[in-house]
Amino acid sequence: MTCSYNRVKGCGSLSPRANTFDSLWLQCISLSGFRIFPEKESALVPSYHRPASIDEALRLKADLGPAAVFLAGGTEVNNHGSARAEALIDLAGLGLDTIQPSPEGLRIGAGGTFQQIVEHPDTPWYLEAAALQMANRNIRNRATVGGHLAVNRSCADLIPVLLAAEARVALVDREVALEDFLCGQQGLILSVLVPMTARGFGLGNMTRTAADISIVAVAASLNLDGECLRQPVLAVGGVAAHVVRLHDVERALDGSPLPTRENLESLVSQAVHPIDDHRGSAAYKRHIASVLAGRALADAVRRLVIR
Ligand SMILES: Cc1cc2nc3c(=O)[nH]c(=O)nc-3n(C[C@H](O)[C@H](O)[C@H](O)COP(=O)(O)OP(=O)(O)OC[C@H]3O[C@@H](n4cnc5c(N)ncnc54)[C@H](O)[C@@H]3O)c2cc1C
Repeated sequence: MTCSYNRVKGCGSLSPRANTFDSLWLQCISLSGFRIFPEKESALVPSYHRPASIDEALRLKADLGPAAVFLAGGTEVNNHGSARAEALIDLAGLGLDTIQPSPEGLRIGAGGTFQQIVEHPDTPWYLEAAALQMANRNIRNRATVGGHLAVNRSCADLIPVLLAAEARVALVDREVALEDFLCGQQGLILSVLVPMTARGFGLGNMTRTAADISIVAVAASLNLDGECLRQPVLAVGGVAAHVVRLHDVERALDGSPLPTRENLESLVSQAVHPIDDHRGSAAYKRHIASVLAGRALADAVRRLVIR
């Protein structure tokens, strides 16, 4: 389905052809008919497409080019991404919003929302806890996993735990490790596969307010062999351009008992390279990352020991 929206010239009348996408307009038009965000007038999107199949979505993207943007929950696109979009390709009709257990793990459709993850009976505690870190229920009802991965923010709340679970991303023509995806893969995301393992998990994050995106978010997972850590994974958000695994720290920990808290924090603080920004200074983020990482690893060990 394809429909065009006339740019509003007067005081807030909706295009007669507007339908499910009214919310975009309603964000820009006050109930009294006056614009709330008059400066956004030029940001209204000229065309909206609702493909009925993945093939149609891909064809539209190829035809419309880089100025066409996929639309999932719209929390980003509707916020500021639409300012650059000439066309929106709505993914809502593609059946990508399912969450299904499979022998390989939990497959979360790209259109699955954070709230669906929270409520799904097969969601393990660590995914649920990380999904609950997302803003508030209104945002969780809209924000999708596909949009979250595509935006690939430095401090994304769900990505650390997905990395710790060694999740894989299904694209149209291949499945890639999430870590590789974050380093620059693009294209339509179909789903994320989260292997269900017996590993121990630990998480932590620090935010300015309960509803804010994290300053730093950490997730760890590991196996134990006696007292020794086996194949630990440590993922940290907010300390680089995107969420990263600290491979040097993982290698240093593999095969040894959990070091003292001081040694662990020192290892982590040398491995992260945050920047100063409005969420905190580089020194603060380095300190927080090392404290949270130490706690997450200790939690992961504890959960295995008391199992
Ligand atoms: C008010 C607010 C609060 C937020 N709070 C948090 C928070 O607490 N923690 C946190 O981590 N994040 C937070 N975010 C960011 C959040 O991660 C993203 O907004 C959300 O997950 C994006 O999902 P979406 O479905 O809304 O994406 P959309 O806005 O629909 O799309 C975002 C981008 O992803 C692309 N895209 C969407 N789906 C796909 C797909 N299947 N394949 C390829 N590309 C795709 C779109 O083309 C677009 O470029 C917040 C955002 C807002 C606006």
